Amino acid sequence: MKLPDEQGYFGPYGGQFIPETLVSVLDELKQKYFNIVKRDDFRKKLNHYLKTYCGRPTPLYLAENMSRDLGFKVYLKREDLNHTGAHKMNNTLGQVLLAKFMDKKRVIAETGAGQHGVATATACALLNIPCKVYMGKIDCVRQELNVFRMKLLGAKLEVVESGSQTLKDAINETIRDWVTNANDTYYCLGSCVGPDPYPTMVRNFQIIIGKETKEEILKVEGRLPDVCVACVGGGSNAIGLFYPFLDDKVKFVGVEAGGRGEKLGENAATISLGQAGILHGAKTYILQDKYGQIIPTHSVSAGLDYPGVGPEHVFLKESGRARYEAATDTEALEAFEYLSKMEGIIPALESSHAIAYVRKLKGKLDKNKIVIINLSGRGDKDMGIVRDLFEAKNG
Ligand SMILES: *Cc1c(COP(=O)(O)O)cnc(C)c1O
Repeated sequence: MKLPDEQGYFGPYGGQFIPETLVSVLDELKQKYFNIVKRDDFRKKLNHYLKTYCGRPTPLYLAENMSRDLGFKVYLKREDLNHTGAHKMNNTLGQVLLAKFMDKKRVIAETGAGQHGVATATACALLNIPCKVYMGKIDCVRQELNVFRMKLLGAKLEVVESGSQTLKDAINETIRDWVTNANDTYYCLGSCVGPDPYPTMVRNFQIIIGKETKEEILKVEGRLPDVCVACVGGGSNAIGLFYPFLDDKVKFVGVEAGGRGEKLGENAATISLGQAGILHGAKTYILQDKYGQIIPTHSVSAGLDYPGVGPEHVFLKESGRARYEAATDTEALEAFEYLSKMEGIIPALESSHAIAYVRKLKGKLDKNKIVIINLSGRGDKDMGIVRDLFEAKNG
């Protein structure tokens, strides 16, 4: 059965939990999205940019040294080689092109760490559409290089000074703008979260990861992999890899941010440690206190630091189709160094969580087993923080 259903539900999760003012806006988006993605001219144009601008298809690399070390075959899907250094570009290119086809005149987005802001600003520069990015004041200070990147790319930055001055306040401001200017404005969301149809749209723009992977592995190995592993923040790179293998005998493991430990507020392991609730327009799992208040999360990787998760992942977890594990900050940092030395590839801290999980399988899998890891991004953006942490550790 293909999910979601007509109302945007993955089992009991997903849907639209939104103010009245957004109902017609989301209806329009949903209807236009499903019409436009079917059109030849849209698909041709998107494929053209994915190929000549983004650099797709990305390679599937047999990590020889890592395979020798762990005792089974490890392949890396090289999303780190995408333009702007991560899988996020697959989604922003798709959505900003959709905005153009919908005749929208401006694009808005919110960003926490700034990676989605940069990917949106990039697509908007390419497609000549004005872009405004909302970002909390504290996040702007923490991620000043991304603030500079966005400005350089021509985006207008709106610094949000309300509330906690972080992502959740930036989201509120973006929605306010959207409700006010819905006629000419497109809201570009960064992961498979939010109200229907966003989880489906974002997934569908990321499915290219899994489609290519399936072709590539069949070509080199003549068979499907045994396990697919990806890190999970909102869950878009993971669902993009998993989806084309849904009906196959392939195991899925999503790896969340275990942070500093299992205590509330010390991690961002939403599926492993959260409960059902409503966040950002959808029913999903969230990290909340006993009064249902969202709690601040922690992860060494900014891209996994989110108190919710895509509703489709919750469905995959509850139905037993996928498993979700957590890797701690320390394990992720060790994996970061491990892959750098082992393969000459410096991974994003987010992707390092997936590497960390697979390292734990050493000696537990047969030597002819095939594990595919989605290397969602490259680590250049993380150099500053990793250097500081290594220096603190080594004195
Ligand atoms: C943003 C980001 C993630 C987390 O987002 P998902 O929607 O869970 O994929 C993972 N890896 C990298 C490199 C990112 O930039």
